[in-house]
Amino acid sequence: MLDLFGDYKKDDHLPPISETELSDAEVLKEAHALKKELKDKMLILGHHYQQDDIIEFADIRGDSLKLAQDASGIDKPYIVFCGVHFMAETADILTPADKSVILPDLRAGCSMADMANRDAIDKAWSYLTKCTDEKIVPVTYINCTAKLKAFVGENGGSICTSSNAESIIKWALDEGEKLLFFPDQHLGRNTCFKMGIPTEDMVIYDPNRLNGGLTPEQIQKAKVILWYGYCSVHQGFTAEQVRKLKKEQPDVRIIVHPECSFDVVQEAHEAGSTAYIINRVRELPAGSRIAVGTEINLVNRLNAQFPDKEVFSLSPYQCLCTTMYRVRPRWLLASFRAIKDDKPINIVKVDEETAKGARLALDKMLSLS
Ligand code: SF4
Repeated sequence: MLDLFGDYKKDDHLPPISETELSDAEVLKEAHALKKELKDKMLILGHHYQQDDIIEFADIRGDSLKLAQDASGIDKPYIVFCGVHFMAETADILTPADKSVILPDLRAGCSMADMANRDAIDKAWSYLTKCTDEKIVPVTYINCTAKLKAFVGENGGSICTSSNAESIIKWALDEGEKLLFFPDQHLGRNTCFKMGIPTEDMVIYDPNRLNGGLTPEQIQKAKVILWYGYCSVHQGFTAEQVRKLKKEQPDVRIIVHPECSFDVVQEAHEAGSTAYIINRVRELPAGSRIAVGTEINLVNRLNAQFPDKEVFSLSPYQCLCTTMYRVRPRWLLASFRAIKDDKPINIVKVDEETAKGARLALDKMLSLS
C-alpha cells in the first residue's frame, strides 16, 4: 500500500484552541475581530467545499486553480488558505518567496492526492517507458502533491484541471503517442472518452500491484494509461441514483463533476468542473430543479444562493469532503493569533527544486489553456 501521507509532512501539527478555553461562539467572535485587526497582514482564501462557518471568513472564494492564481497577486505577507494541502502548495509555488501560505490544519489533505506519490510514479514511469518505444506524455490533475507536479514538469508533461483537461490531453496526445494520466482515473477516462477515445484503448495502472497489474503487451496496445486513483467524495455517487431520479422525477436536471465514475457521467444529463456546475446552476431558468453530483457544502450553498431554483444533492447520503472538514474555526483562530504574534504556524513551503519543476508544469498548463 502507498503511504497515506505520501509526499506530505505529517508531524508539524498544532493543537486547536480548546473548548475549555473558549466556546464555539467566543472562537468565532475573536476570529472575526482578529480578521479585521490583521487586514493589512493577511488575506483569507476559501475553497467552495469549505463549511459555511469557514467560508464566511474568505476574502476570495473559488476552486483550487482560481485560488492559487489569485494567491499569486496578493500583496500581503500572509495568505491563509482554507482548503487542502495540495492547494496550499500550489499557492506557495505561484507566490513570491516573501509571502507565507498558511494551512490552518496541516492534516487537511486529499484522499485522491494521497493515492500517488513520487516514489510510486517514478517506479511506474521506469516500467512503462521500458515496455514501449512510443513516447508517453505524463499529465497530472492539479489535485496532487508538488512533487508530482515537478515530475510532469521534468518529463515534458503538463498539469490540468477539471476545466481544461480536454485541451491539455489533446496537446499531450499531439506531443506523443500515449498518455499517462494521474492520480484521478475518472477525470482521465471521462475526458478521453468525450474526446472520442474508446474505453478499450485505456488501461489502469494500479500502484499496489506488481508492474501496475499490466503486461508489456497491454501497455504497447494502450493509448491511455490511467492511474488507479479516485476521489472518495465523488466516487460516492452511483449510476443507480441517476437512473432512479430520472425515472421518478424526470423534470430534474442532473449535473455531475467529472471526478464521478464513468457510468455516472454517462447517465447524467451533463458533467463539468466546479466552475461549470456553478455557471450552469446560475444559467438554468427560475423554477428549475437541479440534482448535483459534487461535494455537499457547495450544493447546499448553491441552493441558498439561488432561492428561485431547487438545488439538491444527487445522493441521499452526505457526500462531504472530510479532509476539507478539518479546517475549523478553532484552527483558523490559532493561525490568526500566531500571525498577530508574528510567530506564524502551519506554513506550507515547497522546496525550491521541487517548486522549479512544478512551475514548469504549471506554466505549460497556463500557456495551453
Ligand atoms: S473533494 Fe475529493 S479531490 Fe477534492 S479535496 Fe476532497 S478528497 Fe480531494
